[in-house]
Amino acid sequence: MNLINPFEVVQDQLDEVMQILKIDSNVMQILRTPMREIHVSIPVRMDNGDLRVFHGFRVQYNNALGPCKGGIRFHPEETIDTIRALAAWMTWKTACIGLPLGGAKGGVICNPKEMSINELERLARGYIDKIWQLIGPDQDIPAPDVYTNPQVMAWMMDEYSKIIGKNQFGVITGKPIKMGGSLGREDATARGGMSVLREAAKYLGLDLAKSTIAIQGFGNAGYYAALLAEKMFGMKVVAVSDSKGGAFNPNGIDAKALKEHKEKTGHVSGFPGAKDITNEELLLLDVDVLAPSALEEVITKNNANDIKAKIILELANGPTTPDADKILFKKGIHLVPDFLANAGGVTVSYFEMVQNFYMYYWDEDLVYKRLDHRMTEAYKNVLKAAKEYSISMRQAAYVVAIKRIVEVMKLRGWW
Ligand code: GLU
Repeated sequence: MNLINPFEVVQDQLDEVMQILKIDSNVMQILRTPMREIHVSIPVRMDNGDLRVFHGFRVQYNNALGPCKGGIRFHPEETIDTIRALAAWMTWKTACIGLPLGGAKGGVICNPKEMSINELERLARGYIDKIWQLIGPDQDIPAPDVYTNPQVMAWMMDEYSKIIGKNQFGVITGKPIKMGGSLGREDATARGGMSVLREAAKYLGLDLAKSTIAIQGFGNAGYYAALLAEKMFGMKVVAVSDSKGGAFNPNGIDAKALKEHKEKTGHVSGFPGAKDITNEELLLLDVDVLAPSALEEVITKNNANDIKAKIILELANGPTTPDADKILFKKGIHLVPDFLANAGGVTVSYFEMVQNFYMYYWDEDLVYKRLDHRMTEAYKNVLKAAKEYSISMRQAAYVVAIKRIVEVMKLRGWW
């Protein structure tokens, strides 16, 4: 459960940027609340014959720049406020990267770890049955997020296609490669993160080949970040964790071996050669780079002062609270904010949409090249704004994103 309402965090962040850019408060009214919210109840027949009703949401935050875009989370502690905040962050994310897309997010309150594959399939299809009228390739395009994956996307795409009576690959991204997915989507969040990490290191004069990284989270973002940090830059991954705890080894951790260990045991702790640590301890390690890659609000005013990393690469959405942000900025820690650092996922999702529209698929190298280009440009734009206004990288990312959205809202005559 979050300590602070994440949607209030969004509002605080918006207030700050409104003052920096001196934006008319009437315009900000549009950005302060979601354009549309869908609340659904999804009855699912469980394997034991019982019927269970799950609750879910889809928040379409803003579509000034294009169709809404954003992932779907399956999480036991999902709340509408978290989804609202995440939908807002998606809106800033696509704008910050310069994609012709708006922002959305979906969530279903459920614990996928306790559900069978058949129950998950019925839930995935049931969710689409309840929201299909309001999604579509030119309206709102979901994608994977916490505890959802390409298989879940495949079921959802199939369900949508059945309802409308024709194949509609472009309704969802993050699909399996064999059915309209894009090469390079699987590790895109982490790979995009590596592009901005490389730029941040260049800016700070940090030699990544001699640097250490601690990664909180071992899902899609965290696992690939561990793999790529070592593979692309020769970084030493000294600590990795999951929701149950972490593994620390100052000599380095092999991401692939750790994944095998987790597949066998269900957790990263107990990894041979590594010392078990808590998630809290991981954040405070003396490393060059810290990559929170799990959930929201893990860096707070209670631990921000003790963080030793030089760079914080936010691969998770919303891992730092506003109080903590101020502390980190004062300490001179270079924080690459979530909606810039983890935008690689939605960027390759956008490439996937383009390929689906054209029915012509790119090779992996082209995806990587275009992803790197987008991420590098976005980092440079944000850094430029940070210097121009003497503000934090998060505030600068907001400045880049909000300026674009407000300009287009003006052109469209929304204010
Ligand atoms: N769930 C990812 C995110 O938070 C990807 C969204 C997408 O690909 O649409 O950015």
